[in-house]
Amino acid sequence: MKISKTRFINYIRCNRYTALDEIYRDQSKAVVSFTDDPELEDLIGEENREKVSYLLDDMFDEEDEDMLEKEDPQMDTMLPYYSQIEILAGAAIQKRFKGDVIYSLDTYQQKRFEHEIEGFNFYCFLDGYQEDKNTIRVFEVKATTSKKFKEITYKNNDDEKVPLFDYSPEGILMLQEDLFGDVNDEYNKKIARLKNRLTKEGRYVYDISYQRFVLERSIQTGKEIKYYLVVLNSDYIHEGLVNERNEPIYGDDIVTLIDVSSLTKKMMSIVEEDISIVIQRLNTMNANPVSLGGHCQRKDTRQCKFYPICYKHIPEENSIFTYIGGHNGFKDEAGQKHERFDLINEGLVHATDIPVSWLNRDNNIIQRQVIDSDIPYYHPPKIRAGISILKYPIYHLDFETFPCPLPRFKGEKPYSQSLFQYSIHIEHAPGVCDKDKDNYSYIATKHIDLRKDLIEKMLEVIKEDGGSIMVYNQSFEQTRLKEMAELYPEYRSRLLDMVDRLFDLMYLLRGNQKMFSPLGFDKEESKGINFYHNKLNGSFSIKKVLPIFSNLTYKGMGISNGTEALVTYARFPMMDQKTFELKYNELLEYCKQDTWAMVKILDELRSI
Ligand code: SF4
Repeated sequence: MKISKTRFINYIRCNRYTALDEIYRDQSKAVVSFTDDPELEDLIGEENREKVSYLLDDMFDEEDEDMLEKEDPQMDTMLPYYSQIEILAGAAIQKRFKGDVIYSLDTYQQKRFEHEIEGFNFYCFLDGYQEDKNTIRVFEVKATTSKKFKEITYKNNDDEKVPLFDYSPEGILMLQEDLFGDVNDEYNKKIARLKNRLTKEGRYVYDISYQRFVLERSIQTGKEIKYYLVVLNSDYIHEGLVNERNEPIYGDDIVTLIDVSSLTKKMMSIVEEDISIVIQRLNTMNANPVSLGGHCQRKDTRQCKFYPICYKHIPEENSIFTYIGGHNGFKDEAGQKHERFDLINEGLVHATDIPVSWLNRDNNIIQRQVIDSDIPYYHPPKIRAGISILKYPIYHLDFETFPCPLPRFKGEKPYSQSLFQYSIHIEHAPGVCDKDKDNYSYIATKHIDLRKDLIEKMLEVIKEDGGSIMVYNQSFEQTRLKEMAELYPEYRSRLLDMVDRLFDLMYLLRGNQKMFSPLGFDKEESKGINFYHNKLNGSFSIKKVLPIFSNLTYKGMGISNGTEALVTYARFPMMDQKTFELKYNELLEYCKQDTWAMVKILDELRSI
């Protein structure tokens, strides 16, 4: 059996994955067990077949359609950019190290290594491989940025916070221990985080550690072997240079190399142990349920494919996951903390399975009262106090953005949220706003830099009249306005004035210390939620809130969420005129719905 890096990383998740994967791939021909020590009868018996068919029912529907394979239009949209990152990385490696460099978008052109253990062939393809007289260098390219690595700090012996990684004189990010050799316990704690394959940085370290393991077991060489992660440089700012085809030109510093040679060395014993575990799992193929936990990577881009099967018993609404802050666990009467996954594995899956006496957060107590009584909760004095500080006209504002992995326009960084659309509804006096006549929209219809045009049009609508600018989830719009203020100094004061006038409608529902403390509420009360409804299911997203306050819904709209919006914008250049007009109007309607939703929600809150 051949085992790639991706497959290996899935197989190491838990005891069940290998067997589910076998059933998924071989369907009724799959041979799996439901015990750790199966006899022949356990493998071919009727009971076994019945259990397999039960699992198959959760994987394929009656038409044999795959129910686990999910479309990911955002990923499809970003793929060309990911490929371009690999090309940029390859070119940067070649310039820096000379010698023979092998890199290619075509996996089969990449350098490949294979190592056999107990009949299983573990293999790897390398994104980049370079060899010169004395050294072999291995590169793993990741479409992430250096930010998450540069932000890891630890306290040194003088009690100062210092970064775990720093630049070498050659401009390569390196661990403190490799640069200066001086480490302490605090440092080692952070290293432990990097060695954990389930942390957001550790996953990349684990990937390249697997490559190292396979490579070093399959070649004999006296050369030194170095290992690098190649990621996007989070500080890189695009200068706006373009080629004759109007495509951005990037400097070599668009990518950052992170030297993980010593780190991956520390990982070898872990990978070796994991290989033994995977082999044992492959030899056993036990499909019985296992404990749920971090290995499922719930709600992560790497969420396990078999999530719908293993989490089938968790209610979709009002489960234990509904509790706000529930990831911090729950404390019983004796003060003992219970982690959320431990409780799930003990069978406490519904929100009401948690004893009321274990709910120590005020918000959770409110949530529980609403779940038990099915009567919505309101905090009228806070809601009214919040509304009382609004200034008219209110400009209800919403932005749509394209988080491009590679900067497209001047001043952008990797993954900048590139503005392409706004919708504004002007509410002249309480409740005085026409859905159509008071709506102003802008969409960048071409993939050229139209941000200045967008800003100018927006500033024609939003006057310097002190009116509140209402948004939903302030930090997003605030950050975009500040970025534009940096980029266009001529509009700086107008844009920063807008920042000062922002009012977050979500705070009226969710509570917020900064908004409510100055209004005379104490710290705890300010932080607490002002509204809760059974249908929120722990989320205050506008999509959840709107149907509670009106008969409006996003369901059935041509574009019904932010991902569909950005994918539509990304596909504009590929559309024929008819499709473009249809999609343009759908995009208009979607963003308009977001600001109209704010008008309606605010109006309902006034009657409380
Ligand atoms: S969902 Fe979790 S428990 Fe189920 S196979 Fe995946 S990792 Fe294992």
